[in-house]
Amino acid sequence: MSKHVYSFADGDGQNKKLLGGKGANLCEMTQIGINVPPGFVITTEACLDYLENDGLPDGLMAEVQEQIKQLEKSTGKTFGKGPDPLLVSVRSGSALSMPGMMDTVLNLGLNEETLKGLVEQTGDERFAYDAYRRFIQLFGKVALGIEDEHFDKHFDAIKRRVGVKADVGLEAAHLKEISEKFLDVVRRESGSDFPHDVTQQLQLAVESVFRSWMGKRAVDYRREFHITPDMANGTAVNICTMVFGNMGDDCATGVGFTRNPGTGENEMFGEYLTNAQGEDVVAGIRTPKPLLEMDSEMPKQFKQLVELRNTLETHYKEVQDYEFTIEKGTLYCLQTRNGKMNAAATVKTSVDMYGEKLITRDQALLRVAPDLLEQLLHPRLDPASVVEAVAFGLPASPGAASGKCVFDADLAEKLGNAGEAIILVREETRPEDIHGFFAAQGILTSRGGKTSHAAVVARGMGKPCVAGAEGIVVDVSLRQAHVGDSIIREGDVITLDGATGEVFLGAIPTIPADFSDDLVEMLGWADETADLRVMANADTPDAAKAAREFGAMGIGLCRTERMFNAIDRLPIVIDMILANNESDRKEALDRLLPIQRDDFIALFTEMAPDPVTVRLLDPPMHEFLPTEHDLLEQIKTLNIYRDVVRGRQTALATLDHRVELPDALAELSEEHVNDALTHKERMLRKVRELQEVNPMLGHRGVRLGITYPEIYEMQIRAVLEAAAACAEDGIDAHPEIMVPQVITSQEVRHVKKATAEIVARLEKDSGKKLDFKFGTMIETVRACTRAWHLADDAEFFSFGTNDLTQAVFSFSREDAENKFLPMYNESEILQDNPFEVLDIKGVGKLIKMAVKGGREQREDLKIGICGEQGGHPDSIQFCHDVGLNYVSCSGPRVPVARLAAAQAKLRQK
Ligand code: ADP
Ligand code: MG
Ligand code: MG
Repeated sequence: MSKHVYSFADGDGQNKKLLGGKGANLCEMTQIGINVPPGFVITTEACLDYLENDGLPDGLMAEVQEQIKQLEKSTGKTFGKGPDPLLVSVRSGSALSMPGMMDTVLNLGLNEETLKGLVEQTGDERFAYDAYRRFIQLFGKVALGIEDEHFDKHFDAIKRRVGVKADVGLEAAHLKEISEKFLDVVRRESGSDFPHDVTQQLQLAVESVFRSWMGKRAVDYRREFHITPDMANGTAVNICTMVFGNMGDDCATGVGFTRNPGTGENEMFGEYLTNAQGEDVVAGIRTPKPLLEMDSEMPKQFKQLVELRNTLETHYKEVQDYEFTIEKGTLYCLQTRNGKMNAAATVKTSVDMYGEKLITRDQALLRVAPDLLEQLLHPRLDPASVVEAVAFGLPASPGAASGKCVFDADLAEKLGNAGEAIILVREETRPEDIHGFFAAQGILTSRGGKTSHAAVVARGMGKPCVAGAEGIVVDVSLRQAHVGDSIIREGDVITLDGATGEVFLGAIPTIPADFSDDLVEMLGWADETADLRVMANADTPDAAKAAREFGAMGIGLCRTERMFNAIDRLPIVIDMILANNESDRKEALDRLLPIQRDDFIALFTEMAPDPVTVRLLDPPMHEFLPTEHDLLEQIKTLNIYRDVVRGRQTALATLDHRVELPDALAELSEEHVNDALTHKERMLRKVRELQEVNPMLGHRGVRLGITYPEIYEMQIRAVLEAAAACAEDGIDAHPEIMVPQVITSQEVRHVKKATAEIVARLEKDSGKKLDFKFGTMIETVRACTRAWHLADDAEFFSFGTNDLTQAVFSFSREDAENKFLPMYNESEILQDNPFEVLDIKGVGKLIKMAVKGGREQREDLKIGICGEQGGHPDSIQFCHDVGLNYVSCSGPRVPVARLAAAQAKLRQK
């Protein structure tokens, strides 16, 4: 029989999968000499065994009894009897932290007899009954499934009768009365007496903690955060000797972060309450005090707390989030785990901890999840348009958001999923509100501190949160909130600033965030570390400029057709498409040439001396024309209009020009309308002529370039003339010409030959050599299989993983994403959306084949990827591992990709 139970003194602090994060850390802390109340851990294996067999594993309770004996020995207390009764907490804790998602029971071990002992031993009847009524309620809820409201009802009634707001106002007699009422509740709701046998209490509590692993809250949480069984499987149970923060004014309880999780500042951060139990801080029942106030209130304990903080950081070399309790002047640490921080704080602590020599530079890079950086690109309130705040709370999670107020999580979920921007407004939040968080843009609570449930969860999700805004009085039943004289009704729009704690009425415009010095420094290290270069997909000088600010090292994909879509160009492009012969087409192209050339000059200048990869025209031509449906509509209305013009002329002739018309109308003759009609009808003919059954697999890309060579010639000329013009001005431009949709080396050669002729002409005219590269997209399956041949002419490859993915899966992105892909993902037929996360197993195989073929032919072949997946960290790891030279992604993804590229290199080592 395997061992299921480990004491804190013996458990392996590294084995979080077996002992859970909380349990492993309790062991670790105990073993490095931190003052942890004695206790033991029941393993996650026991939990899985229990869930599978619907019963505790054989011998488990015997092991537990054995450990309880040890606890009795080390504490001098006795379990279930005696003048000094042993009380314990029964706490959940899996390998990954899931704050508040599973259950914990406190004060276990109390019954009629031990209660008496507790009264005598402490001489404090009020304290003992307070502990008792808490235990009955928690145990009733967790182990017996009795809803809080049954208890709260009585509690509130007595508070009302006595005339106090908070429970601290109640006296021993009141709490005694409450305890009795609670025992009645248990009898009524569960159908049997509250269990007074402490071993039975313990067993029931352990089983219910095990079951909470499969509770709805926990299951929802794991699904939302993609926690798979290989990351965390089952919960451990921690049995820990109770220590009390509510035995008087020399007692306290609190939670702390070793650094400020909102800013990353290296300072004592956290909150505490004197004379309170742990869950009072987290639940936000009383608004706690900042830790720094402890310095004057309990100076000796504050010093110990600073020491604890330092010990934790030097040992774990990571920001810690810890729970502590002070019982009669003695400090105990009850929990520690790695602190969840927002992006700004994670970056700052990385840079700082490296500076303090606590971690290495590589560790500093590795501890920031690349996707987290996107938060830094979140908008904040535009200072120019900020009006006066109507309420203030604690700045609990930075970022700004506007949305409609919603007062409960269910409605929040419904409206949020329907695409509405909403702010979840609550008095305080509880774990069962979690689905409302997912749907909300921001969270506002009127009670609770920076470590309340609302604050912790919002920070983890990177959503703005203002907590404890006491100026707001929430009335959930009326679905409204009072702020001073005004009333906020459900559906009214408000704005939160989670960085300042301000609440505003109405929507306030936001501006994009900029880079902190710390982020710039860290990304600088990333660039030094990475092998992969990170380029941007950008089509205009403005986009190029923005990409530069994100740190792009060039443009990996410039889609020239996007330049065609501006209003001054589209008519010329349409003329080119409508042209019936080569010379008409050339005439239109001649007009486009200078425009494209100027675009390229601006783009090259912006990016110099980094490369700009220009893809020649790719989409099918019909994309530039209106649809058949639109044209038919327009022709119909033009025909009606022609009748109107005719009718008007008839009227004018009849009236013999006695009526004076406004000039504009006078000039629109039937002839004009006829011209318009002819033009539209020509377009319609062309649209019908260009119609394809499957345009994405039709006349596009290089196939278009070969059948209408003058189009590619114009584009190549525009690129090279722009390069020449830049060179003339001393700008170090590096254009790269890229051919899309290639399937065979003959196509590449064809375009290359045309390029060579243009180059020869330009070089002859200017007497200077042109500096550029010529390459191809790899986005068809055939190109992957023929890469060796393609590399004969191509100096670089760029994987177009959108088209390549479509080709490999044989389905189109739009149809897939709109019809069956979500269902495929949900039922795990496909793990990811292959258009977001590169399909390494399938598409990746072809990429590897192409890389191998290409490099065999041309050793220094430059290879990159320019599909959307190029900005995704897992895809980037793959790109690094197969030896690509660069990834190219959208501008705002560039910082994420830079960090991911560095991590890819570090993980490969
Ligand atoms: P969670 O995972 O939800 O934080 P915990 O197991 O940490 O749950 O317990 C909930 C609360 O009870 C915390 O505030 C914790 O500090 C407190 N607590 C747990 N065990 C003890 C104990 N042995 N003595 C005093 N307080 C405790
Ligand atoms: Mg805890
Ligand atoms: Mg493509």
